[in-house]
Amino acid sequence: MIKSVFRGMKTSDGAGVSLTRIIGSPDINMLDPFLLLDEFGSDNPNDYIGGFPPHPHRGFETITYMINGNFKHKDSVGNEGYLTDGGVQWMTAGRGVVHSEMPEQKEGLVRGFQLWLNLPKSKKMIDPYYNDIQAKEIPLVNIEGGVVKVICGEFRGVSGPGKPHTGVKYLDVQKEKKGTFSLPIEKLWNSFIYIYEGAIRSGLPIKKGSLGILDTSDAFECEVMEENTRFLMISGEPIGEPVARGGPFVMNTRAEIIQAFEDYQSGKLG
Ligand code: FE
Repeated sequence: MIKSVFRGMKTSDGAGVSLTRIIGSPDINMLDPFLLLDEFGSDNPNDYIGGFPPHPHRGFETITYMINGNFKHKDSVGNEGYLTDGGVQWMTAGRGVVHSEMPEQKEGLVRGFQLWLNLPKSKKMIDPYYNDIQAKEIPLVNIEGGVVKVICGEFRGVSGPGKPHTGVKYLDVQKEKKGTFSLPIEKLWNSFIYIYEGAIRSGLPIKKGSLGILDTSDAFECEVMEENTRFLMISGEPIGEPVARGGPFVMNTRAEIIQAFEDYQSGKLG
């Protein structure tokens, strides 16, 4: 059941990319292990001309899911990736990368999500890694009146291609018809849904553009109130360690953040 509902906050990042910050805002700083969730989307070409020019990361993973449009990625050690509609880029920053991220419109549209997933202390300094997952590699599970895309974790015996370093379930639930939907979730994991089309009710009503934080029970049940409802259902095992944030770096202590800025300035992040 949903225990609280929040609206995302309009903001901008990168080279003036307008976006909605859903987690990582003044209302919800984080939901362990999730540090940030942004929705970027536009049908106006001028919103996206700048993209996200080169910037560093250390200490966590970014998971970018393109609903519409393309996404070009490049980093300072020569990795390049290109996603199209429905694809996911899973980037493990580990000890550090410097990369650029450029969403591109397709037929005037671009829409996607970026989720920041924390790494535990023991894995913050692992080697960086990229996993570009094309749409056709993401399994679809038919449900009554709809379909579930399994990006990570398991749903009705089908496992997604995402490979997190901690326990995570990441589903995109698409219901063309009204009706009920339920699934088991790991007890004591932190879970949320984000409605990006339509409306549902699970204890509380929630509609397009809102985040619902779930209780930590072992199941999620809802009633889909509108046709063509779509929502992300994301659940993660809490890490339970201190979190120190400094811009694009997320570590356990202030001293480690200062070290990350020093390493970036001296060219050690790639
Ligand atoms: Fe980035």
